[in-house]
Amino acid sequence: MLNVLKVRIYPNKQQKIALSRNLGCARFVWNYYLNKTNSQYQETGKGMTYCQMAKDLTKLKKLSDYEWLAESTAATLQQALKNLESAFKNFFEKRANFPRFKTKHKKQSLRYPESCSIKKGGLKLPKIGIVKAKITRQITGKIKSVTLSKTSTDKYFACLLFETEDNATSGATPGRFPRLGKAHQEINKSKISGIDLGLSSLVTVFDGEKTYSIDPIKPTRKYAKRLRRRQQALSRKAKGSSNRKKAIYRVAKVHEKISNTRADFLHKLSRKLCDENQIVVAENLNIKGLARTKLAKSIYDAGFGMLLNFLGYKLEREGGLLIEVDRFFPSTKLCSCCNFKNDLLTLSIRDWVCPQCQTHHDRDENAAKNLRQEGLRILLENTAGQSEFQACGETVRLVNTCIKKQVSVNQESPVTASA
Ligand SMILES: [Zn+2]
Repeated sequence: MLNVLKVRIYPNKQQKIALSRNLGCARFVWNYYLNKTNSQYQETGKGMTYCQMAKDLTKLKKLSDYEWLAESTAATLQQALKNLESAFKNFFEKRANFPRFKTKHKKQSLRYPESCSIKKGGLKLPKIGIVKAKITRQITGKIKSVTLSKTSTDKYFACLLFETEDNATSGATPGRFPRLGKAHQEINKSKISGIDLGLSSLVTVFDGEKTYSIDPIKPTRKYAKRLRRRQQALSRKAKGSSNRKKAIYRVAKVHEKISNTRADFLHKLSRKLCDENQIVVAENLNIKGLARTKLAKSIYDAGFGMLLNFLGYKLEREGGLLIEVDRFFPSTKLCSCCNFKNDLLTLSIRDWVCPQCQTHHDRDENAAKNLRQEGLRILLENTAGQSEFQACGETVRLVNTCIKKQVSVNQESPVTASA
């Protein structure tokens, strides 16, 4: 099983120079071949494959104008080409936008596909040497690749991709749960919660007995004033001045603060949910669609997608399961007592009384109850181990291949940070 650990690294002055050269070379190769593929496509109607680009790169490196490319590790440049090829593939298969040119002013990254190891408590990188690193967990397996990134606030991180034998050896709390069997009793015994995601309360949890909800934090709102001030200060600086550079850095700092606050909160929340449950049932929200509405800012601030992602891999690592129920399942409209479907329910109604059985429902609590019920039904009707199946005409995805799937789609950063 593949596992990822993101660690912060602290290169010294010389290493920083070497790294920025390496990042620059990888960026150049990406941009050069993106441009070349585009122009070739316009002329001939066909883009370049990885093999063609790699062959061309070997020739390019021999030209006197491009000798400096040899300073960088050859494998990282080839990896940049592989990333470019998969970026095009993702575009043609409608998973991503058209690949863009990279700039040195934003987050930059680089992938070492081989020869990295952990030595003397640091991370050994080819041609760079041992870089001081804060390795928070013991890595038992062989390191397959390292993705190095530099943020716009000059922080360096490394994502270590390594292989472990099975679930039991990979997590911080090894094998907390026994593997889920098919037997009904086993499913009934394990702890299952339904969670409803919302904006007024971020998650409403129903664990079979009681419900509770957790309020969202709104980091974008919290730091809005600071961000506005610093952006205003930036707008007053003359173009190309060193004061402008400093102001850009200060703006980037606020953005970093916002995303760190959000990620920290969501890591803690998903950890709590994962500790309390073996199976979590959630709605599969159409986040891209929601983000096109008036509520976009709040949706991004809430970080639903991030939460489900964190929850998915944390549960999987410990033998649990995240079940995503199809978004067309009417979790809010059904009465959790008698299954009456209340079509009159609108977004603004926070609580309602079921006309059939007279039960008083809180909107979110009712939805959480329905989701749990639906999750149980899916579990009992389908054999464990299948990753995709049909349930009552609604496709339901069991997110147990979370990590592998991300590796294939996004070559650059295999999985988001793990904590
Ligand atoms: Zn009812």
